[in-house]
Amino acid sequence: MSEVERHSYDVVVIGAGGAGLRAAIEARMQGMRTAVVCKSLFGKAHTVMAEGGIAASMGNVNSNDNWQVHFRDTMRGGKFLNHWRMAELHAQEAPDRVWELETWGALFDRTKDGRISQRNFGGHEYPRLAHVGDRTGLELIRTLQQKIVALQQEDEAEFGDPEARLKVFQEATVTRLLTVPDSGSEAGNRITGAFGYWRESGRFVVFEAPAIVLATGGIGKSFKVTSNSWEYTGDGQALALMAGASLINMEFVQFHPTGMVWPPSVKGILVTESVRGDGGVLTNSEGKRFMFDYIPDVFKEKYAKTEEEGDRWYTDPDNNRRPPELLPRDEVARAINSEVKAGRGTPHGGVYLDVSSRLPADVIRRKLPSMHHQFKELADVDITAEPMEVGPTCHYVMGGIEVDPDTAATPGVLGLYAAGEVAGGMHGSNRLGGNSLSDLLVFGRRAGLYAAEYVAELGDERRDVPQDQIDAAAAEAVGPFNNEGAENPYSVHQELQQTMNDLVGIIRREGEMAEALGRLEELKARAEKAGVEGHRQYNPGWHLAIDLRNMLLVSECIAKAALERTESRGGHTREDHPGMSADWRKVVLACTLADDGGHVDLVRRTPEPMRGDLLALFELDELKKYLTDAELPSAAPSAP
Ligand code: FAD
Repeated sequence: MSEVERHSYDVVVIGAGGAGLRAAIEARMQGMRTAVVCKSLFGKAHTVMAEGGIAASMGNVNSNDNWQVHFRDTMRGGKFLNHWRMAELHAQEAPDRVWELETWGALFDRTKDGRISQRNFGGHEYPRLAHVGDRTGLELIRTLQQKIVALQQEDEAEFGDPEARLKVFQEATVTRLLTVPDSGSEAGNRITGAFGYWRESGRFVVFEAPAIVLATGGIGKSFKVTSNSWEYTGDGQALALMAGASLINMEFVQFHPTGMVWPPSVKGILVTESVRGDGGVLTNSEGKRFMFDYIPDVFKEKYAKTEEEGDRWYTDPDNNRRPPELLPRDEVARAINSEVKAGRGTPHGGVYLDVSSRLPADVIRRKLPSMHHQFKELADVDITAEPMEVGPTCHYVMGGIEVDPDTAATPGVLGLYAAGEVAGGMHGSNRLGGNSLSDLLVFGRRAGLYAAEYVAELGDERRDVPQDQIDAAAAEAVGPFNNEGAENPYSVHQELQQTMNDLVGIIRREGEMAEALGRLEELKARAEKAGVEGHRQYNPGWHLAIDLRNMLLVSECIAKAALERTESRGGHTREDHPGMSADWRKVVLACTLADDGGHVDLVRRTPEPMRGDLLALFELDELKKYLTDAELPSAAPSAP
């Protein structure tokens, strides 16, 4: 095998979205030599596309808000399947992470009295999302990049080299984690580095490091209609799985209720929830505000019964209940799906979302500038004067790499950490809007901190990267050049997306998921024969052929877990098992790599019971909706 470029660091962070950058900043601030590696250009990550805001109970707009209320909302949104310790840490630490961003230079929108403004979002009891218009992610990334530059300037002053302790490697795609067996610990393997290729030259590169933080984001590109962009091919999830870690809760995929449905070229692009948070209403082709017909029993007491009450809530939230357009995303997505199926959809197969009759044009342009621009440019629709057409789009994966809730370490692989969308557990079966940006700040920081701590404890005890693994990774990567003309990776990808959309989508049925698993097997066989022409310099067909392995593995996890879970909960709706079962709440489905290396096995785990003081934050009547009798605390207060 030819010589491979090598770099050596203490901590390597894979992914330069919010989670990756926050982790890298923390590892560097702990004194570690840290690298950030990202597949796309630095600054282009999903985080930059985030629109609505960062959820944090700062109480700036409603002083009744606090971490306990945020914790409760998050658990309710996730239908109590969330890892409660992650939800607790997240709710407690999110305000500090937002304030910290401000001290690092973030310019949030303000309240009239000059505090960070917070907006309403689905499932959040109080206005909670710190935001910058509808371009919050852009400001978040800008601020974190600015912090990185500030740290590099410190290193320039101290060492004469700005990259002495923090360096960014952009357009480098990691295809394998490198490990050695670890007999001395409970974990099966120990991290030694990562293998990848430069997108531009196609040459290979190895990053040697005892600790790796995976922060590679989501999996949306396995589905046909998605708000996700080209990089979200489940790489981190697959890399972790292949290194010996587990993926949990993979059946829970979030279909955001409002994606664009027209024109076809932009189908799936996100329409931010802020439109509803700021007063937008959903209507069907008959002009009816249909969400009032879809309030599930578990939320009946918390949402307005009439349009009048819902409308009053925007100006008097203390004496009225919120409108059902602001139910958690899974509920709204299912409702839209049902309306369209019942023949009450728009000409292009969505429903109407109207903000033009609810807010003055100048307010819409000020509060929702990106949405105004997006619809004008892409669909020739002026949202200050006419309604939008919207429908569900695959947006986020709640499942992900199993991690320790405090340290973000993966139990199966020593030295491997994961944070942000790639990690599982925090959001249970359904994520609330705004809870991802806060999640990636809270757990990005923790991952960087504990990765640094782990490396500090290791001292000089580092293992070499095994040469045979580098050779195998290189041979695997060039494989598609030896399959010339066999299978077109684009066709395999298209069929995968169609399969996941049609058979493992928003409403699931046993027979269809079994069919999907059969098709995935065929697609895997075809993907192994996927061939590419040309050379390794900037060859997107080759890149896709490599990504297919990851998308297919992750899709198998989703389909297997979805077939196994015979209940409906959050982002997993079974037409054949419509109810939510308290017994299933006690089951976490975990995927591990099968011995053959090309499939996944499913194992059942029992989640740790929630701590008593956290259970006591809920009324007994509410807990009864989610927990088995054996789990109910005897002392929880009943509703008055
Ligand atoms: P990302 O930001 O997705 O970054 C992943 C990084 O990993 C990228 O740098 C990528 O290049 C890199 N990468 C991937 N694979 C590899 C590989 N193999 N090798 C090297 N690098 C790799 N959430 C909210 O809380 N509030 C919102 O308002 C909001 N709005 C959203 C709007 C849109 C349009 C979208 C798509 C999402 C939105 N979300 C929102 C969700 C949120 O933005 C994402 O969940 C979150 O940004 C994920 O952050 P991350 O750091 O985990 O990963």
